[in-house]
Amino acid sequence: MSATPGAGPHAWDVIVCGAGVAGLATARALDLAGLRVLLLDKQRVPVPIAKGEVLQPSSVRILRSWGVLPRLLDRGAVPLGRLMVRDADGRRLMLFDYRTMPGADRLLFSLDYPEILAALRESLGERVEFWSGALVEGLIRDGRRVAGVRVSWQGQTRELTAPLVVAADGRSSKLRRAAGIDTTSTEYAHRLLSFDIDGVPEAAPEVTSYLTGQGLRLAYPLPGARMRLYAQVRPDTLRGTGKERAELLEQWCRELLDGTPALRPLEERLRDSFGSRQLLNLWRFTATVLAVPGLALVGEAAHCVHPMAAQGMNTAIADAEALAACLTERGFAARPAPASGDRALQAYQAQRTVWVRHMDRMSHDATRMITQLSRSGQAIGRRVLRRMDGNPRLRYQATYNMAGLGIRPFSVLDRLHQLGLPDPRARRVPDWA
Ligand SMILES: Cc1cc2nc3c(=O)[nH]c(=O)nc-3n(C[C@H](O)[C@H](O)[C@H](O)COP(=O)(O)OP(=O)(O)OC[C@H]3O[C@@H](n4cnc5c(N)ncnc54)[C@H](O)[C@@H]3O)c2cc1C
Repeated sequence: MSATPGAGPHAWDVIVCGAGVAGLATARALDLAGLRVLLLDKQRVPVPIAKGEVLQPSSVRILRSWGVLPRLLDRGAVPLGRLMVRDADGRRLMLFDYRTMPGADRLLFSLDYPEILAALRESLGERVEFWSGALVEGLIRDGRRVAGVRVSWQGQTRELTAPLVVAADGRSSKLRRAAGIDTTSTEYAHRLLSFDIDGVPEAAPEVTSYLTGQGLRLAYPLPGARMRLYAQVRPDTLRGTGKERAELLEQWCRELLDGTPALRPLEERLRDSFGSRQLLNLWRFTATVLAVPGLALVGEAAHCVHPMAAQGMNTAIADAEALAACLTERGFAARPAPASGDRALQAYQAQRTVWVRHMDRMSHDATRMITQLSRSGQAIGRRVLRRMDGNPRLRYQATYNMAGLGIRPFSVLDRLHQLGLPDPRARRVPDWA
């Protein structure tokens, strides 16, 4: 083991471990706060997988303020005005109309995850040093406080210290476990099959959730006239090898198109995209705490939600903004030191816990409604969606929450209106809007 030459204690103000969206966003936010950052990632090049493609208006606002939005647009980010829930025939069940939202940013954007990462990476300033291919192996402590990390890089193991460490190392976070922070993780009973479909110039500028007898099918355009399609499947779908799996896939595709007439025009292009498919397991958890002395958790190291409400990446970007604000407000940005860092971490923990729990509940409630497979569950889900669609006040509130603009959970009375109790305020925008 060796210390890094010239990189003694406090060569950096913050060490950020992981350069997914959470780590890159944190590096960008801390850079703008005037801090010197070391960013570490075990991968040399990000793996191109279906992940984190829809940016909510809350993230668009943050990325605009960080100067990242023009880079996303240069890379072809597709503006989408609405999220539409439809039945299997394509008939409207509920519209989330982002164009009715307050503020300047009233659109969603879709872009491939590696492109979002590249846009963030390009925006990093000179205060950020990035080591790719650097595997973080564990934490270094000064008493009970986290004081740095042990890293394997370029064939050497090094001990690196800084007044603050950020764990942005994703869902299976080694640093979260090393810090003794618990999570109770629940795996969803279904999986998602994703497809990257080429040649769909006619795709509507919306995120569409089709609710079908076999579960959710979610589609949206991507740059280059492509379309992302996610289909809910049972865990045992497509088990088998070689020829058997190819036949299962063919049969599965026929069932998908039979059960979702709205997708039939895509039949040939969907078959052409079979090679791009990925089967994804899905989890839900929130860490018991988001910070301990010397260490903050951001992104999926801290919280993981079902992807179909499109909140995980957006919450990670908001984590980064909140952490930088706390570090500035508590004096760490002006004078980086363990004491001011820990005061900032306490503020971060208090502020973000409320938000992260809200996002977890909202994503889970939405997931339950759109992935129901029982007849009674589907009937109730569709009834709630239709009632909300006919109630502009509730529709506004649901869209506001999805857009990440604030925390406005439904009251017990709102839930009764969703089920059919007449709502005298239905035609008014909410009092708080
Ligand atoms: C199919 C799917 C679709 C999704 N769609 C959306 C969406 O539309 N909108 C949305 O908001 N969210 C979406 N999400 C969620 C979103 O992708 C995640 O919330 C987000 O990617 C989490 O980012 P992260 O940086 O925390 O983790 P990751 O992206 O997993 O990054 C973690 C990084 O840490 C690195 N790392 C890990 N361990 C170490 C180590 N020991 N040493 C060094 N480096 C390490 C990894 O190499 C990786 O680069 C989706 C997720 C899935 C699976």
